[in-house]
Amino acid sequence: MRSPIPDYLTDALRSVAADTSGATADYIPELAQADPDRLAAALCTVDGHVYSAGDADVEFSIQSISKPFVYALALADRGFDEVLSKVWVEPSGDSFNQISLEPESGRPRNPMINAGALVATSLSGPPGAGADQRFERIVDGLSAFAGRRLEVDEAVYESELHHAYRNRALANMLRAHDIIAEDPLVAVAGYTRQCSLLVTTDDLAVMAATLANRGVNPVTGRPVVSAPVVRQVLSVMSTCGMYDGAGDWMTRVGVPAKSGVSGGLIGALPGQAGIATFSPRLDRHGNSVRGVDLFQRFTADMGMHLMDVPGTAREAIADRYVDGDGPDAIEVIELQGDLRFAAAEHVVREFEVRPPVTSSILLDLARIGTIDDVGRRMLLEAVRRLTIDGHEVFVLDPDQVLPDPDPGTGGRITVVDDRGQVRQR
Ligand code: GLN
Repeated sequence: MRSPIPDYLTDALRSVAADTSGATADYIPELAQADPDRLAAALCTVDGHVYSAGDADVEFSIQSISKPFVYALALADRGFDEVLSKVWVEPSGDSFNQISLEPESGRPRNPMINAGALVATSLSGPPGAGADQRFERIVDGLSAFAGRRLEVDEAVYESELHHAYRNRALANMLRAHDIIAEDPLVAVAGYTRQCSLLVTTDDLAVMAATLANRGVNPVTGRPVVSAPVVRQVLSVMSTCGMYDGAGDWMTRVGVPAKSGVSGGLIGALPGQAGIATFSPRLDRHGNSVRGVDLFQRFTADMGMHLMDVPGTAREAIADRYVDGDGPDAIEVIELQGDLRFAAAEHVVREFEVRPPVTSSILLDLARIGTIDDVGRRMLLEAVRRLTIDGHEVFVLDPDQVLPDPDPGTGGRITVVDDRGQVRQR
């Protein structure tokens, strides 16, 4: 059988192809000359499979889509406190190139607008790094997100740098407020160079999927940034990634996203996929017209809205039965799915409402996908209380989804493998 997904992507491109509204960015001469009819979409799963359609292997400059990734590098390199003290996380409600700084401090409102992105660029790499070393870090970092070595488009770089009057104004303001420490022209050059890195739509899907996959590139398997950094980046993308169109985007499309003036657009759906589109004509916010349309279709067709989360907690207990009889009888409780707060609450409530009927009980975790830290602590506390109530608790954990199974004072647990052999007591 052939997967229906590439056909779906091709159909989606076909359905938006006729729309030639909007215009290529004209304030960067090199971008104004881009072929406006290019059209592509790509989707990368969190296990690293890339589906694509249209011009998905055509290179274009990444532009503002570099911002969330460079912000991630700054957070990784300098820590949250330093970065947050210099660039905040509040949507500005302004367009991407507004001179939008907090009145007193001069701190940019968020790292997705140019002012904040200039700061993030200046904070990547180790403290005291020179411009070259810092740029090396940015290329290495963005290449790790993409899973291949990215190169600068020198023509785009020169073209934008010569016209970067607004960004120079922003950098001067940032320098005047001591938000950046370096020569404003050096800051603008570094930021413009980062925006000139060439990517394909396929690359962008992998970069987005790395965010969707808690910072591990799903194609190369390489960890790029930590899960807390990814959470911060995705949160800021949700609230600020689409500039003054961010609220409309989040309600209608519901995926943390970032656009760029060359016509790229990415969305990262945590735990599921990274998606990218490319179509150079832009709307008045500077977002790709057909890209926005495609994402609206994807959300509707693939149920991608972040707020549409299925309630799986009620299915946490797959089965409950007594195996054997007499003194050998053991009640088996089969759990399934992912055990987070709501599912774990369902399990502990079940034990309260219907206490186990045998003295020995077996918690079967073979069908559990993942247990987060909250789920783990709640399950172990339930084991501790069941022990105190007089039960002997066995846990079948063939895939070792329950790390460090210590129920604490008064609790006892015996972990067995699928052959009933005791692995840990
Ligand atoms: N390099 C562009 C600029 O600074 C990026 C803007 C964008 O993609 N929205 O103006």
